[in-house]
Amino acid sequence: MAQEDVFKKIVSHCKEYGFVFPSSDIYDGLAAVYDYGQNGVELKNNIKQYWWQSMVLLHSNIVGIDASIFMHPTVWKASGHVDAFNDPLIDNRDSKKRYRADNLIEDQIGKYEEKIAKEVAKAAKKFGDAFDEAKFRETNPRVLENQKKRDDLHARYTEAMQGPDLEALKQIILDEGIVDPISGTTNWTDVRQFNLMFSTEVGASADATNKIYLRPETAQGIFVNFLNVQKTGRMKLPFGICQIGKAFRNEIVARQFVFRMREFEQMEMQFFCQPGTEMTWFDYWKKHRLAWHEALGMGDDNYRFHDHEKLAHYANAATDIEFHMPFGFKEVEGIHSRTNYDLSQHEKYSGRQVKYFDPERNENYTPFVVETSIGVDRMFLSVMCHSYTEEALENGSSRVVLKLPEPLAPVKCAVLPLVNKDGLPEKAQEIVNNLKFHFNTHMEAKDSIGKRYRRQDAIGTPFCVTVDGDTLKDNTVTLRYRDSMKQERVPVEKLREIIEDRVSITSLLKKIDID
Ligand code: ATP
Repeated sequence: MAQEDVFKKIVSHCKEYGFVFPSSDIYDGLAAVYDYGQNGVELKNNIKQYWWQSMVLLHSNIVGIDASIFMHPTVWKASGHVDAFNDPLIDNRDSKKRYRADNLIEDQIGKYEEKIAKEVAKAAKKFGDAFDEAKFRETNPRVLENQKKRDDLHARYTEAMQGPDLEALKQIILDEGIVDPISGTTNWTDVRQFNLMFSTEVGASADATNKIYLRPETAQGIFVNFLNVQKTGRMKLPFGICQIGKAFRNEIVARQFVFRMREFEQMEMQFFCQPGTEMTWFDYWKKHRLAWHEALGMGDDNYRFHDHEKLAHYANAATDIEFHMPFGFKEVEGIHSRTNYDLSQHEKYSGRQVKYFDPERNENYTPFVVETSIGVDRMFLSVMCHSYTEEALENGSSRVVLKLPEPLAPVKCAVLPLVNKDGLPEKAQEIVNNLKFHFNTHMEAKDSIGKRYRRQDAIGTPFCVTVDGDTLKDNTVTLRYRDSMKQERVPVEKLREIIEDRVSITSLLKKIDID
């Protein structure tokens, strides 16, 4: 099945099974804004819990905060967002659609890379074990030609983005013959800058001085609280402050479901360290964050680092963790070495000293910062995309199953009375009442057992427990495993032990063992 079709199916599955709904659905939705339903919110909360615990439980020197969405407007002057949080946009006059010029060019670079990858894959298949990939890349004329095109384009693009030079960006789009995917034409407008921050007013008068912004990142709430937390928590460098919260960006193009939203959620951690130690911590956090992803068991090959060649003016290193989505490898998380830029800027704009007093060195200085920043919604999407599976079964039928990492599943265990009478629902309820304190357990009594299994498969429930006539006699139940569909008879009193360890967030945390 084409990857586009898979993605469409995932989107409709999310709606059909209560994971994600378009916002204001009965009014036909609002572009790039989504609501999480009864199952989506559980999955999302589990992701957040996993992240939060990996920060504050595994690191005695990391604490959390919850800062407001509204902040003093000068914060955004100081951070550079008022002047520089822009994307270059371009319109196609025929389709009347708007695009990010940088994305169009990056996609074109991706096309050359894909062509090279296809040539390599073809040759690898043809030559089998004798294939020398490095040599092939160095000598094959088609690979060399595409590599040169890719590198030339990349160099031009990187240069044009410095500044950025909007005319140069447009010229690249024209020279490369990049067409609008909808109209198929190159009838492009000029490239313009567009600030992504939403603004509103506080108080009754619509005076310009009352203009404030909805935060486009949660990080600034951490920076402005740096001293509050450091002093009240008696924190010593190095230490981190983490936060989960909403962020808002008036995205120009918002077409990939929850991948690019105008209201989304971030999980950010700012790690404050001594100047000169930031690269050690940058490497540490790269490893740690990758281990966090890999512990979910979604395939190590589905992740890659993408180092930034064009660094923001305040950064001295930056990389993205990309996940293999149905629409290619895409950024899920950013890890940035932000130097002492933000704290210094806040010191300058607020007129207050924002420095750390180092008792060992007996001096004041501005700490350096390494940030890890992951979008909850993009993480949610990567989990959904990886888990969605259509399976042909031996009996000729098929099933859709969400093979979610078990600790992230919205419902961990469904208890199903075989029939909705003869004391079985009561017994099932008794089992639920015991298990519900330990993990999310539901009872479902309606419909045939086969239909109920399918429904639980579709929302990714890892364990189904079937209560039948024998249960009343010997207190055993049938335990069915979601992925293998294997069934086994187990005593009721063993259920908690079998299930709990596999579905707990702790089981994931134990796998992030890199310290
Ligand atoms: P992109 O280049 O895709 O716009 P970005 O580099 O601007 O992303 P960051 O500013 O580094 O993103 O934000 C950190 C994280 O926040 C991203 O890795 C992503 O997971 C998430 N994020 C950013 N913008 C959005 C959005 N519009 N919708 C959902 N998640 C987002």
